Amino acid sequence: MAYTELEDGTRVYSNGFRYKPVPLEQRKYRKFPPGTQWHGGKPYGPLPLLPDDDRDMPATRPDEEAAQHTLGCTCDFCKVPRVQRLKRERLGIKARVDRRPRRG
Ligand SMILES: [Zn+2]
Repeated sequence: MAYTELEDGTRVYSNGFRYKPVPLEQRKYRKFPPGTQWHGGKPYGPLPLLPDDDRDMPATRPDEEAAQHTLGCTCDFCKVPRVQRLKRERLGIKARVDRRPRRG
């Protein structure tokens, strides 16, 4: 709801309601920083994370590009199950079917 704020901090809403927020120091309940998570009634976090620029991200490439590798390629990109399925589809190989009898 839209409101206009007076000089003393009082908010006047469009329906005429007036509200003055309590300063942080006088609040009865502590205000937790954004990103705080709750587990068992206790606050945790926010986690001290590195900025994105300082992080070393793993090398990635599209699955379709890795599917062009040879079938027996052992690079890290080809270990993804979806890449192996795309390779089998490209070469017309049907997926292995487990033909062992089921128990029970
Ligand atoms: Zn590969």
